Amino acid sequence: MAGRVIVHLDMDAFYAAVEQRDRPELVGRPVIIGGPVRRGVVSTASYEARVFGVRSAMPMAEALRRCPDGVYLPVDMPRYVEASRGIMEVFHRFSPAVEPLSLDEAFLDMTGCETLFGPPDVLARALKDAVSEAVRLTCSVGVASNKFVAKVASDLHKPDGITIVPAGTEAAFLAPLPIGRLWGVGPKTAERLQRLGLVTIADIAAADPANLRARLGSLGDHVARLALGLDDRPVSPDGERKSVGSEETLAVDVSGREGVERLLRDHADRVARHLRGSGLKACGVRVKVRYTKGFVLATRDGRAGAPFDDSATLFREACRLLPRLELDRPMRLVGVAAFDLQESGQAAQGDLFAASGDEMRSERVSRVEHAVDALRERFGDVVARAARVPRDRSRDG
Ligand SMILES: [Mg+2]
Repeated sequence: MAGRVIVHLDMDAFYAAVEQRDRPELVGRPVIIGGPVRRGVVSTASYEARVFGVRSAMPMAEALRRCPDGVYLPVDMPRYVEASRGIMEVFHRFSPAVEPLSLDEAFLDMTGCETLFGPPDVLARALKDAVSEAVRLTCSVGVASNKFVAKVASDLHKPDGITIVPAGTEAAFLAPLPIGRLWGVGPKTAERLQRLGLVTIADIAAADPANLRARLGSLGDHVARLALGLDDRPVSPDGERKSVGSEETLAVDVSGREGVERLLRDHADRVARHLRGSGLKACGVRVKVRYTKGFVLATRDGRAGAPFDDSATLFREACRLLPRLELDRPMRLVGVAAFDLQESGQAAQGDLFAASGDEMRSERVSRVEHAVDALRERFGDVVARAARVPRDRSRDG
């Protein structure tokens, strides 16, 4: 899959940073979050504590020995979860495809969003600013053409860093780094490789793949690919069923069908654009709203007649679900998601021979929107309005 834009965001010393944010007297002090001193381990150490050599997963007793004047605090999970929710909400504002790795870390697939958010450095800055505004915490950002390189990048200039790896420079970027940075290479494997004279990622990239396979088995092929900066795993959005969604917590409540439809139209546009950018089609459509009163979440699922990747079909199917929601109640969040995903290539053939009008229309609109994507790519958002032509025509469909 060529030309992907993958972002990895990682909050800086997350638990400790939340404590320092909420208790200003802790700012600038070594703060260590973890289990009981006798048996527990360190969950997070603030950067001030790291100066003393305190690290995550270190026994608390050892941390205490290295940093006797540190502030030791128990894990306060509900507060970190709350901060995490705020962070993830920001991520979802930027991309319909967010894959959380933990409370404070996620991949975002931003493929096809360049015209919306600008080049990677501008995008990274905007993400950091939005996170900082929402939760008053700093994070580090890596932007690259795949997950592995983006994750390595985000870690390189911590804290509060931005690291961009332009497409085509992945292998050069990785070359000087130690082999322990490769996923799947733990301390034991690293030691074995070092004994063979393989110290940097460049050494792995230059090694004979057959030799690596002989030494490492199936891991050999895996690390050889990573060392070249190759990784085609998709960003898998959250949820048991993999889905691509777009939603927004509103500054002002919305109610009534018309207002909801207007929001769904924009969300459908973003989701469909993302599907096309990722080479995916979906069959499932989900509408999600959160009622203001009682904070109650409601979702309704439906299915399109055939796999689709155009916003017209997604919007039409989403609207079909609206009668099953109470639209006159005030809502503070509206969103739409496409699920039951498959690769576009897999879906393409059958559609053309399908008889139903819906399917033919979906295929036709999809082609128009693909063409619009290509124009947008070349000429920017001037073309965006053209997308309304096929979309509006399908409304009565
Ligand atoms: Mg982190």
